Amino acid sequence: GGGVGGLSLALTLARYPDISVTIYEAAKNFTEVGAGVGLWPRALKVLDKLGLRQEVVNLVGGLDPDKPAHVFHYRKSNEHRGLSFYDLVSPGGLLRFHRADFQKALLSHLPPSHSAHTSKRLASYTQPSSPCQPITLTFADGTTATCDLLVGADGLRSSTRAGIVRELVRSGRVESEELAAPIWSGEVAYRALIPMEEIRASHPQHRCITTPSQVFPPPASLFCTQSLKCKCACYVLTYPIQHGTHLNFVAFQRRPELEGTTFPGPWMAEVEPGSSEWKEPYRGWDEEVQQLLEVAPAPLRWAIHTAPPLPTWVSGRVTILGDAAHAMAPHEGSGAGQAIEDAYILGTLLGHALTTLDTLPAALGVYDRVRRPFAELVQRKSRENGMLFTFQRHDVCDNSPATLADLAYSVRTNWEWAWSTSVDGDVERAVRMLESEVGGR
Ligand SMILES: Cc1cc2nc3c(=O)[nH]c(=O)nc-3n(C[C@H](O)[C@H](O)[C@H](O)COP(=O)(O)OP(=O)(O)OC[C@H]3O[C@@H](n4cnc5c(N)ncnc54)[C@H](O)[C@@H]3O)c2cc1C
Repeated sequence: GGGVGGLSLALTLARYPDISVTIYEAAKNFTEVGAGVGLWPRALKVLDKLGLRQEVVNLVGGLDPDKPAHVFHYRKSNEHRGLSFYDLVSPGGLLRFHRADFQKALLSHLPPSHSAHTSKRLASYTQPSSPCQPITLTFADGTTATCDLLVGADGLRSSTRAGIVRELVRSGRVESEELAAPIWSGEVAYRALIPMEEIRASHPQHRCITTPSQVFPPPASLFCTQSLKCKCACYVLTYPIQHGTHLNFVAFQRRPELEGTTFPGPWMAEVEPGSSEWKEPYRGWDEEVQQLLEVAPAPLRWAIHTAPPLPTWVSGRVTILGDAAHAMAPHEGSGAGQAIEDAYILGTLLGHALTTLDTLPAALGVYDRVRRPFAELVQRKSRENGMLFTFQRHDVCDNSPATLADLAYSVRTNWEWAWSTSVDGDVERAVRMLESEVGGR
């Protein structure tokens, strides 16, 4: 897969010329959805190590992972102007890109020695137990290829994950192949890019022009729509991207009681131009939210799915990373960042002088033991942020400073890992584990 995870692994492996890399991407071209993506300092430091500092600076205008920076302004959408209650500031802040620009930056660093094939959708693989015999990949177009190691960076509906789970069922480590399938979180996200010019023209003082914001529901807004026939908890996220020329707009709607059920429709769909049903739950929200709903083009509707935790991400010489391993709710802005971290640690272990075909299972085991618990922790925290943002943990009708301060504190604490920890310690630990496991062989 040639998404952020697969490309980050390819770039990490570019540092080891003795490893030959082939990327198989299902899509016709390397493309990304037209939306924004945010990265925290942990992932940015990895990009820096991979030589992408200048690209990142070009995209966002600066990169100082230690300098305090404004992340989000928080308000409840009460009455006319909303009730502001918090500004999150953190070292390095959250850097935001257009996804396609970011993918282009990654692609521009692929070395010519890597080969990349598009329109190649992996359907399945078979792996003999002997490391001397290659893994065989079978693609949806009926063609095959071979490799010594398969890393599935093939996203939410990963074929590689399905293959691993099948092998785990066969070996008795998991009970059911159902574990391969993503779970609907009970949430949908409506995503649109709004040209900032349009907002400036109609509402020149709109706060979204300069201030990234998360807007939480007003009192008594756990909304009951005709079509949803149920309580729907919502929030809105906005931030400028592409040097302020566009606003990344995401309107979340969640129905906690539907988590784990089947989403009734395509997981990604374009909303019909002119349709206003998706705006209904925000009726009665403050005027700046109404203004954005007026100018927003027909959004993409995204049903948010997550990947249930597995007992391991490894089977023999096959492993997974990114969404294939730990697809998470987007409320910590961390799925892509975690994919980058997976890629960097896995790539570093694969490039280690002690990793050979014989010791590959040990290297993959270390990757699994270091990365899986951390990514699963972030996955749980992402879900928790979704609960906090939609008043599943606090009383939406309580506007008291004490309650809002507690909400702000909970959000900050639940997110603190993103700026107060670094991936370096995990890399060192992984390398030490590998050396102690295979160093004496
Ligand atoms: C609304 C929303 C907002 C988000 N915001 C953020 C954010 O701000 N910050 C953040 O860090 N994360 C965010 N995320 C999460 C982030 O988008 C994902 O975690 C990230 O894209 C995962 O990268 P990946 O490379 O693992 O998978 P993907 O990006 O899905 O890439 C997988 C690639 O594999 C290809 N592929 C799929 N199947 C096959 C196959 N069988 N064979 C070959 N190729 C295949 C696909 O075409 C694709 O190119 C958000 C997600 C959503 C839904």
